[in-house]
Amino acid sequence: MRLGIDLGGTKIEIVALDRDGAVRLRRRTGTPDDYPAMIEAIARLVAAAERELGGRGTVGVGIPGSLSPATGLVRNANSQALNGHPLDVDLAAALGREVRVTNDANCLAMSEAADGAGAGHRTVFAAILGTGCGAGIVTSGRILDGPNRTGGEWGHTPLPWMRPEEFPGPRCWCGRHGCLETFLCGPALAADCDGPGARDAGSIPARAAGGEAKAAAALARHTDRLARALGMIANILDPDIIVLGGGLSNMAHLYTDVPSLMAAHVFGDVARTPIVPARHGDSSGVFGAARLWDGG
Ligand SMILES: [Zn+2]
Repeated sequence: MRLGIDLGGTKIEIVALDRDGAVRLRRRTGTPDDYPAMIEAIARLVAAAERELGGRGTVGVGIPGSLSPATGLVRNANSQALNGHPLDVDLAAALGREVRVTNDANCLAMSEAADGAGAGHRTVFAAILGTGCGAGIVTSGRILDGPNRTGGEWGHTPLPWMRPEEFPGPRCWCGRHGCLETFLCGPALAADCDGPGARDAGSIPARAAGGEAKAAAALARHTDRLARALGMIANILDPDIIVLGGGLSNMAHLYTDVPSLMAAHVFGDVARTPIVPARHGDSSGVFGAARLWDGG
């Protein structure tokens, strides 16, 4: 039995997958405000799941941040209470077993590579276009990562082939200018269309389709920037498939417009990387967390 935990800002979700990937149990609870209560809430979810199913599982946890390889502490989590804590160590103590922790984009990649839109492909690049912008890379069933544990941190690389009017790009919360996240996430699209502080990107495709020039122009800029950003990935990693998740991945035009725009930025005479929406949607985080022990 494989247990996956999605530790989000508003809810903590647990899923139990059996050997075949079928869901045997799924529960959720609200995310407490303080860190010790989060550990307790996860321990309670795991204990209840194991009691109900009558077995002991491996535990993987997806978080909106990552563990620093230097300090072992959570960094860059937008659930502020998590930052600065050794989450894997504390959960291991609470649960009496080793626990694997990774960021939610890596969970998306694991889930989609295993039995989602990337199934059957060796190298899967999975990007989240939502409140933020991140990505994970799974190759031969395992997360591709390295000494900095920054594999897939595409969202904090600069927009490639910047145009003069784009340079240097908006200031990112990470301290840099022009990160992909500042152009490609939902709030970035909303702000580009409707000005600083606008948050609603979801209505923009319908407004564009309805003839609103401002919405169509913002959408075209966003599509072109995403095509450049993915063209760069093809030139470095050449994944077998690109899977898009997060709220903006519901925009149907991405799957028709991005591949042809991307081709101009792929070095060489072919550009045939499929770009597809995630199959598991919002569930990919918790499913991927359950799969963090797959492949050894
Ligand atoms: Zn950044």
